[in-house]
Amino acid sequence: MNRFELARAATAAEARGLLAEKSGSVFKAGGIDLLDHLKEHLLEPPRVVDLKSIPGLDRITVEADGSLRIGPLATLARVAAHDGVRKTHAALAQSCQEAASPQIRTVATIGGNVLQRPRCWYYRLESYPCLKKGGDVCFAVGGENRYQSIFGGGPSYAVHPSNAAVALVALGASFVLEGGKGTRTVPAADFFVLPSKDPKRENTLQADEILMEIRVPSAAGTRSTYQDVRERAAFDWPLVSAAVALKSDGGVVREARVVLGAVAPVPWRSAKAEQALAGKPLDEAAAAAAARAAIFGAVPLSENGYKVGLVQTLVRRTLMSIA
Ligand SMILES: Cc1cc2nc3c(=O)[nH]c(=O)nc-3n(C[C@H](O)[C@H](O)[C@H](O)COP(=O)(O)OP(=O)(O)OC[C@H]3O[C@@H](n4cnc5c(N)ncnc54)[C@H](O)[C@@H]3O)c2cc1C
Repeated sequence: MNRFELARAATAAEARGLLAEKSGSVFKAGGIDLLDHLKEHLLEPPRVVDLKSIPGLDRITVEADGSLRIGPLATLARVAAHDGVRKTHAALAQSCQEAASPQIRTVATIGGNVLQRPRCWYYRLESYPCLKKGGDVCFAVGGENRYQSIFGGGPSYAVHPSNAAVALVALGASFVLEGGKGTRTVPAADFFVLPSKDPKRENTLQADEILMEIRVPSAAGTRSTYQDVRERAAFDWPLVSAAVALKSDGGVVREARVVLGAVAPVPWRSAKAEQALAGKPLDEAAAAAAARAAIFGAVPLSENGYKVGLVQTLVRRTLMSIA
């Protein structure tokens, strides 16, 4: 790891000022993903600006209307254990609870989780000049690709690594971003971008912007859940994950959101699965139909065809758990 200066900011404006003073500087939250980047020489910043010293950025608030306001510095452990979140927005609490290990969850923040970079081994190795690093090849296409995407169409096939992002898209959350040009609020569904737009990035966050808050609308009348499948029960990223949020009336699904994780370069909303559920009672037949619909458009690479079957099983299982 190269030497760098660690700067602590008292306000978001100060943090942005400290970042701007030295080109190539980066923000740090819990530091779990950032430190990996520094150790692997993927980033060599002159200055690391710690956001943890900014007061109030770790608050979790349940508003009077039932919506949530979550500071980006709230740790995964706190979001997972928060009574209000668990009661009304179960998918979010579960997605944070399932991430990584207890030790990591007490340090890793929800903001950093959503903004972490992909785990693709070609991206993570300095010696591979892949598309994500500004090169012109996705080495996974002709290489080892068992963990790569089956949706999204490339040209880069690294999957989005965040558990929380999958639940946040399913729950219709938005991100509040503050930068030099002011504050903007972006729906989670629009925040994440496919590599066909720019393979070097996974979202629309600008270099000088700070994620200031995550807003999750009231989930009154909505039931949600998150499940994933992993190679091992100990800490690891999922092979496939699914978050489902359903609004029902008289036992009939009125509105469904089905979002898949670890299968595309962004949290992957399955419109076909949602259509298969709308207007139906949530029973075995509807769950099976939605699960079949969820694999529509999947194009596996040479080693990851198993993910198609996993998606189908996981969507059916997740829907039946909510039924
Ligand atoms: C062994 C292991 C297993 C794991 N398993 C899982 C898993 O199953 N599921 C899962 O989802 N994750 C998993 N992770 C990833 C882990 O959850 C993330 O690395 C962590 O959440 C990142 O959060 P952080 O606070 O440490 O972010 P940092 O490392 O501090 O930051 C990550 C990135 O976000 C930027 N950033 C952070 N906060 C802000 C902000 N507020 N505004 C602007 N930019 C910001 C930083 O500059 C950096 O680029 C695992 C990690 C490990 C090591």
